[in-house]
Amino acid sequence: MSNGPANGRSALVKDDLAYLIHPQHHPIEHQDPHIWISGQGVKLTNLEGKSYTDGLSGMWNVYVGHGRQELVDAAAQQMKTLAFATAYAGSTNPLAIELVRTLKRLVYPNIEAFYFTLGGSDATDTSIRTARFYWSEKGFPNKLKIIARKLSYHGSTVGAASATGVDEFSNGFGPRLPGFLHIDSPNPYRFTTSRKDVSPGVAAADLLEEAILREGPETVAAFIAEPVQGGGGGVLVPPDDYFPRIKEICERYNVLLISDEVITGFGRTGRWFALEHWGVKPDIVQFAKGITSGYFPLGGIGVSGAIKDILDKANPSHRWMHGYTASAHPVACRVALANLRIIEQEGLVERSAHLGKRLIDRLRSLETHQNVGEVRGLGLLVGIELVANRQTKENFVSTLEVGKRIRHELFVRGLYTRVLGEVICLAPPLVINEEEVDQVADIVKESIQAVLGA
Ligand code: PLP
Repeated sequence: MSNGPANGRSALVKDDLAYLIHPQHHPIEHQDPHIWISGQGVKLTNLEGKSYTDGLSGMWNVYVGHGRQELVDAAAQQMKTLAFATAYAGSTNPLAIELVRTLKRLVYPNIEAFYFTLGGSDATDTSIRTARFYWSEKGFPNKLKIIARKLSYHGSTVGAASATGVDEFSNGFGPRLPGFLHIDSPNPYRFTTSRKDVSPGVAAADLLEEAILREGPETVAAFIAEPVQGGGGGVLVPPDDYFPRIKEICERYNVLLISDEVITGFGRTGRWFALEHWGVKPDIVQFAKGITSGYFPLGGIGVSGAIKDILDKANPSHRWMHGYTASAHPVACRVALANLRIIEQEGLVERSAHLGKRLIDRLRSLETHQNVGEVRGLGLLVGIELVANRQTKENFVSTLEVGKRIRHELFVRGLYTRVLGEVICLAPPLVINEEEVDQVADIVKESIQAVLGA
């Protein structure tokens, strides 16, 4: 980028406001934007030349850190050799094949085959269409409904926004598509139940059984859930007995379990895939973000052997009619291979488990603060929920703008991250070191004290 007047701050901001529509667009957020110019390791540098710790790995995705030459070389070499090849119509490419071989080794052992998308939203749509197609081919064309959870985020396409459990994503866009319903999230901090016979985790999972029975099992295709609810929930880690019970219920009623691991996949939580924490295997797993660390767009789904069989055995005239031009894109696949190699060679999954524990342990001392409701997380995926009143768990009134003020204080101290409502979310690159983790924890403490007192 040249340093001419067209690239001075005021000209950039003016044209950004005039011409660029942002995700979750509103100009109120872009009057004085962060203009990021470069990145190295866990640091991002802005137009003014100041560096900040990237507390959210870009948008929960830059696992291996910024400025990795291996990924630059992978993309450049592949673009020179073969920039594009279709995977339609009897064509394939060796990079996509090498990537599915690698995924077969890294993903849940029951997952047999993979389809590639461009990101997470279209991965959700692909899962939903695949679940419905599976049941239709098996002779159950009425198994169409998708059960999801409140506070979940599954993306912004029409299908993914219908699965998403945050109502704001549907405000002004018309109602969700028919056939999508949402049960309560198992949020351990806020979930309440009148049941005394079982644990809160089991009670929360049993809401799925209730919903299936209410709707009729013959109408339900799948249950979709993020193992740790991220962008909608503010890092909600379920109780340990939640997913095992969910799996039992899905099996009992022939409902497919879709694990949305767009944030939790590839080591973010300290395991390659997050349902491993609870010994559960999904029928469909969806991924994006960390598979390329954001260096190139790529997402996808993995399916069980039973689902792959159905796709393979369908009558050719009634096949799985789903596809994207960029599916199995050779550049994306090559970047993913180089990125997964780094994750494996540098032991980043174990590192995430180890450093995530260190970060959470250091933040736990905050739990005596009158406005810190809960510190929670799994691996390097952490949330700190702030409340007006610790006893009642009451939220701050929105006019106080606590989240926005905290975000500003974090930034002033050199940490860039996202505060969802009043939950400070932390998901730094997995290459972060001990000293940087401690700095992040210290900045969070100081920022909370600056806004809410000691
Ligand atoms: N699913 C989950 C769990 C996500 O967190 C996201 C994005 O944050 C998506 C799906 C949508 O992914 P994308 O933004 O790549 O479309």
